[in-house]
Amino acid sequence: QCVAVCPTGALTEADETGAVIRALSDPTKTVVVQTAPAVRAALGEEFGMPAGTLVTGKMVAALRRLGFDYVFDTDFAADLTIMEEGTELLSRLSAFMEGDKNVKLPILTSCCPAWVKFFEHHFPELKDIPSTARSPQQMFGSVAKTYFADKIGVKRENLVVVSIMPCLAKKYESSRPEFSVNGNPDVDFALSTRELGHLINLGNIDFNSLPNEEFDQPLGESTGAAVIFGTTGGVIEAAVRTAYEIFTGNPLPRVDFEELRGMDGLRKATIDFNGTEINIGIAHGLGNARKLLEDIQAGNSEFHAIEIMSCPGGCIGGGGQPYHHGDAEILKKRQRAIYSEDKNKNIRKSHENPYITKLYEEFLGAPMSEKAHHLLHTKYFDRS
Ligand code: SF4
Repeated sequence: QCVAVCPTGALTEADETGAVIRALSDPTKTVVVQTAPAVRAALGEEFGMPAGTLVTGKMVAALRRLGFDYVFDTDFAADLTIMEEGTELLSRLSAFMEGDKNVKLPILTSCCPAWVKFFEHHFPELKDIPSTARSPQQMFGSVAKTYFADKIGVKRENLVVVSIMPCLAKKYESSRPEFSVNGNPDVDFALSTRELGHLINLGNIDFNSLPNEEFDQPLGESTGAAVIFGTTGGVIEAAVRTAYEIFTGNPLPRVDFEELRGMDGLRKATIDFNGTEINIGIAHGLGNARKLLEDIQAGNSEFHAIEIMSCPGGCIGGGGQPYHHGDAEILKKRQRAIYSEDKNKNIRKSHENPYITKLYEEFLGAPMSEKAHHLLHTKYFDRS
């Protein structure tokens, strides 16, 4: 299963629940947890619920009962990713329109670590093309161990960050040396959705009868744009919602971009940015990604921006999710759950998240500032 869907170094699933239990029992540690968008659309399956049941509130309640000091949302960092990646997209587009021949387009999304490792190995000559924005998991860890640790007066080494991810490659991503400070990683442990199910059972928690609870603040607030990161096409749709408004200075005439959605392995759409046509490509599955990359190599790419995710359907079909055995119907149900969570959010554009605005005002300055570059961006390596 893992080899098929997770083409990274993570060939066996390392169970880290024991290490997390030790951290939760250590009175000298403050333990925060973040939950990725796709987890809430699948965790219920571990407890016998039908595919597509959203369990956001029960998941929060379970994590609180397990003893996490703060229950936060990776979706907060997904909104932050859009601020950084959207700004990067717009600056490259502006340079391109002003006639800069050296500008790197199309910009490629960079939040899937299996995809990042794939291009580092197989297309290293393209390593300057993907966005330098770190993934939401890593942005969260970086902000938690600086801004949030300062806010609550806890030293970095006493703050433990645990991620709940649909993904096995996230374990590998969190161990990359560039995401550590003096040997202390930004994200200490990345558990899969299945491992969380196991942990909840170990804690003897009756998941199905839990009440719905809310995330803690400030790193628990998020928008509809963030939750759709969990499915193919969602990252680029979230970026379009923000980039359109910043680029044109006008409110979006519509928030839903149906033309970016679907389950076909390769999709394309043109979005009208008030007279400027932006060509977007979407691929899930690395075989499909390879086709788009070969076009870029040959100088034949028609796109300004491309989203690539490794797993079928994006993170809803991740290698750490409850087993779906390739059943497309299960993936479609999880996808519908993700879009319904987006629709039900009061705020659906990343740049309108009030806690993101506050983070920039209090700490980061502006998107792509020197501090933002240091804490929220990365670089890629030739691993050919
Ligand atoms: Fe992980 Fe999502 Fe990438 Fe799959 S698509 S490898 S779950 S980040």
